[in-house]
Amino acid sequence: TVTAETTWTDQTATLSPVLKQATPVVVDHALGSWIHGTDGHDYLDFTTGIGVTSTGHCHPRVVAAAQEQCAKIIHAQYTTVMHPPLLELTEKLGGVLPLGLDSVFYANSGSEAVEAAIRLARMATERPNIVVFQGGFHGRTVAAASLTTAGTRFSAGFSPLMGGVHMAPFPYAYRYGWDTDTAVDFALRELDYLLTSRVAPNDTAAFLIEPVLGDGGYLPTPPRFLQGLRERADRHGILLILDEVQAGFGRTGRFWGHQHAADVTPDILITAKGLASGFPISAIAAPTDLMAKAWPGSQGGTYGGNAVAAAAAVATIDVIRDENLVENARVRGEQMLDGLAAIAARYDAIGNVRGLGLMAGIEFVTGESGDAPVPDAATALAVQQATTRHGLLTLTCGPAGNVVRLIPALVVTSDEIDMGLERFETAVTEVVS
Ligand code: PMP
Repeated sequence: TVTAETTWTDQTATLSPVLKQATPVVVDHALGSWIHGTDGHDYLDFTTGIGVTSTGHCHPRVVAAAQEQCAKIIHAQYTTVMHPPLLELTEKLGGVLPLGLDSVFYANSGSEAVEAAIRLARMATERPNIVVFQGGFHGRTVAAASLTTAGTRFSAGFSPLMGGVHMAPFPYAYRYGWDTDTAVDFALRELDYLLTSRVAPNDTAAFLIEPVLGDGGYLPTPPRFLQGLRERADRHGILLILDEVQAGFGRTGRFWGHQHAADVTPDILITAKGLASGFPISAIAAPTDLMAKAWPGSQGGTYGGNAVAAAAAVATIDVIRDENLVENARVRGEQMLDGLAAIAARYDAIGNVRGLGLMAGIEFVTGESGDAPVPDAATALAVQQATTRHGLLTLTCGPAGNVVRLIPALVVTSDEIDMGLERFETAVTEVVS
């Protein structure tokens, strides 16, 4: 029977089986690149909460900033009352954003920021279509999943998806068995063909791409491809939206992933993950006159631009600058990729190693040399699970799930990279020999 009173029962709930767990680790506490499990083991964390804990776990300055803010105000609802951390963050972001992108809107997650960027692009251009690139990952909400082509697992069973999304090839040179230039020429030619055959430029609001494909396989977007997109966007009045959610905030050894491509500035930049070292906050940035094309109130949200998250983001930017972490990401990234290339040369199961800065993808394949490589998801998964047993946390990615990805914190040291490489090779040896 239903009564008006609250009833307390002895029922306990459990986590939904919809969660798919990459490791059995339960974290007790964590610091820097290390996670200490409730099982008493220490794990070198090359997952960083999927590229989020940029300054490492619980950086003392980030912790202090968050604690201090917590005691002042936690939730100040930014469309009701404004708060100093968001104003300070916005000013500071200005100093690292590409010149011209001087207006910022905040949300909580990558997916929400992607949705905000698409909404802005459609409102500003009054055009419906978005062109995305094969293997891109942009999130899990309906619009973001509609833009995602990093695996059918992100959209299957979820239709109908948002309309107006069209996919062009990504220059995935290894998969085609081509050199990078050939792959870029092909992908640009196919994009032009799409704009001629199916998606009229005048009906196209934006190109949306990641500077490094993340969940789609840790594939750096070749600079010449980004330049080709910029040139076509300018020619047709199409906006270039760069999803820097995973590749931004210093991770690739430049502050933004697209800065590896000379003369490419996005019209809209999307950032999240590394922005606040683990607190949920995301943002889009665009020139003020572009932002002004969406009417006031057309974007918003209850939790967007949370005060504690904003304070943590301010501290994150300060730490990245003061500890020279973008340069550290570049140098340690080279060390990691060199080490992985040496490991790959010793195992036929590894078909390709690539990455940029502290984003490295190791692709597992089967097949005789000379034939097209066949993705080997079972081996990638076995290696990923073996690394956990050897004290190194890693993740898989790629549409087929056959890529192991390494995403250390920007504070990672030379010794930690060496240790990670050693543990990774131990896992590979255990699985493939
Ligand atoms: N874009 C990219 C490039 C991402 O890597 C992700 C998350 N993996 C998202 C968008 C979605 O972010 P969130 O999970 O915070 O919604």
